[in-house]
Amino acid sequence: MKTYKPARITVNTSLLIALVAAIVVLVILFSSQVKWFWIYALVVFALVFIASYRIINYALANYFYHSIRIIYRNIIQLKSNPTGTIPRKIPDDRIISEINRIIIDWEKGNKEEIDHLKEMENFRKDFLGNVSHELKTPIFTIQGYIHTLIDGGIEDQDINMLYLQKAARSIDRLISIVDDLESISKLEAGEMILENRTFDLNEMIHDVNESLELKAKEQNIKLEFDPGKSAHNFVYADKERIRQVLVNLIVNSIKYGKQNGSTRVSIEDHDDYVTVDITDDGIGIEKSHLGRLFERFYRVDKSRSREQGGTGLGLAIVKHILEAHQQKISVDSSPGVGSTFTFTLKKSI
Ligand code: ADP
Repeated sequence: MKTYKPARITVNTSLLIALVAAIVVLVILFSSQVKWFWIYALVVFALVFIASYRIINYALANYFYHSIRIIYRNIIQLKSNPTGTIPRKIPDDRIISEINRIIIDWEKGNKEEIDHLKEMENFRKDFLGNVSHELKTPIFTIQGYIHTLIDGGIEDQDINMLYLQKAARSIDRLISIVDDLESISKLEAGEMILENRTFDLNEMIHDVNESLELKAKEQNIKLEFDPGKSAHNFVYADKERIRQVLVNLIVNSIKYGKQNGSTRVSIEDHDDYVTVDITDDGIGIEKSHLGRLFERFYRVDKSRSREQGGTGLGLAIVKHILEAHQQKISVDSSPGVGSTFTFTLKKSI
């Protein structure tokens, strides 16, 4: 389709008007026998051309920019500018490039949002798949034991108590999966409100070590604590959440530790923060796994994790809690040598 540029329309229309005016003048002056009539006609042609050109140009530009401004205002309002007003007066010669910029930004934003939604959708599908898989194992185990008991096993003194105990253990596992799922969904929905306060980290580590002593003894693992230079290390954080972080990390060091090994918790003092290291001499982790270790349901050795009662959510919970505190966690590990998990905490001023 042939398109007409505004400048060409203006020139052509002005030429036409000027020509008509010149012809009219030419005819009138000629019939009045005025001398040099064609010079007058030429002057009229030039003047009418310039005047028409200016008037048409001004009218077109006005109409054009007025329409563009309406489009611009609609775009701004559609973008749900919080104030609903045009942010500032844009000069006419910049308005088209400004609209272009807004549309490109808009397109980029929409694309990012769509990509994010797609990612969330995949995430949700994976999550549901993982959750049902995790729940199925203990549910089927319970179902098996209960049916065996119903089908006569209850009378068998050799197995009745054993099967009830095994079913009870699977119920405990179900509860720990549901507890972890609840924690993680609250953390991810941003619903967890931190109750930050000042507390002594040294005291808490002593407490946690004491509470896990029995579990560590089953593997004859020694729990050690090096508080660094200070008898007290006061930090500012949500005490119960940080307890959860320490429990998850120390329990892991026992689960993936070695018989007669040790777990050492140590604190290092920095300007306005402390770092806490949890070091074990257990099975360690291959470098290729380290990048994904904090993802939910990620396990290096699935069967070992399940055997140990792991849900695959412990480290994801730890990471979420520390991120909610704007703190960091990292891991360093070598297979057969052991692992060190390090996280930071803000010192209390
Ligand atoms: P799980 O419930 O399986 O322990 P986590 O999220 O706590 O889940 O840990 C994820 C995986 O990271 C574990 O399955 C295990 O393979 C690995 N892991 C965590 N801590 C250690 C550790 N201290 N030593 C060796 N491997 C570890």
